[in-house]
Amino acid sequence: MDAPFERVALIGLGLIGASLAHVMRREKLARQITGHAKTAATRARAMELGLCDSVHDTAAAAVDGADLVVLCVPLSACGPIAAEIGPGLAPGAIVTDVGSVKQAVIRDVAPHIPEGVDLVPGHPIAGTEYSGPDAGFADLFHNRWCILTPPEACNPKAVERLQAFWTACGAHVDFMTPEHHDLVLAITSHLPHLIAYNIVTTAADLEKVTNSEVIKYSAGGFRDFTRIAASDPVMWRDVFLNNREAVLEMLGRFSEDLAALQRAIRWGDGEALFELFTRAREVRRGIIAAGQDTAAPDFGRPH
Ligand code: NAP
Repeated sequence: MDAPFERVALIGLGLIGASLAHVMRREKLARQITGHAKTAATRARAMELGLCDSVHDTAAAAVDGADLVVLCVPLSACGPIAAEIGPGLAPGAIVTDVGSVKQAVIRDVAPHIPEGVDLVPGHPIAGTEYSGPDAGFADLFHNRWCILTPPEACNPKAVERLQAFWTACGAHVDFMTPEHHDLVLAITSHLPHLIAYNIVTTAADLEKVTNSEVIKYSAGGFRDFTRIAASDPVMWRDVFLNNREAVLEMLGRFSEDLAALQRAIRWGDGEALFELFTRAREVRRGIIAAGQDTAAPDFGRPH
């Protein structure tokens, strides 16, 4: 069977770009993979790992002749890269991305996409706290959701091809408006990371409990937060700068609910605490039942 794409250009060769390269190789989704990353070290490593057939010093050179371009860079880099590659995109090419926020990517990238090229923004809901080309692995997207947010005027053929691509990568594909995507992800991904960053630094700043005690006696709950808080600072800075409204909306609700918990503790309202904790446990059970995590004590994490 012919590969679905002749030449796929991966711009950004970190966790997501490298994982895409691995799964594209395994599933034979591209005849040729070209790549670009900011540093020469990452470009060289991508060649050593066999992620790409060729790497290029510029994004413009990497996309030359590509029929699929995937932007796998931090959100703040998407606009400048789109400006660079726009003029050289081949007619009929599809440009997509994997960014964690969709409205901002569309705002920054769409103006640079020429006539005859389709922009189909996407976001695989899959990741780990590791970054860089060595962090990638072929199964990252297996059984995960990938959300596509195509604009209404988008060529349906391009959307279909990208849907088939992600399905072949092992993902389930869903469609949303960019606005809805950003709101959903604000509560399911962005706020949890903010809370993790906050609790870990609060603990580290405590004067009465020394840092060594925080590490020595770290209980399961705290350890899980430190795992999330180990995520890439550039990526997460960009998420909060680019999904400000939705995150602030969810943060407002979270703060209200936290105040209610604080009040229940102050007033010794065991019933309220028990009821809330029971409801929360049901959510966890629902996630396991939906096959989106395992009940194993280490949560079946890949690393
Ligand atoms: P990563 O492992 O840190 O990799 C980022 C890659 O982008 C690196 O290869 C880096 O090159 C390259 N890069 C950064 N700035 C660049 C620029 N100006 N020009 C060219 N290349 C540049 O990050 P990642 O985890 O793969 O995340 C990439 C994107 O995926 C982000 O937009 C993020 O929102 C999204 N995403 C991440 C996750 C997750 O859990 N990590 C999940 C879903 C979606 P160098 O190595 O040379 O610096």
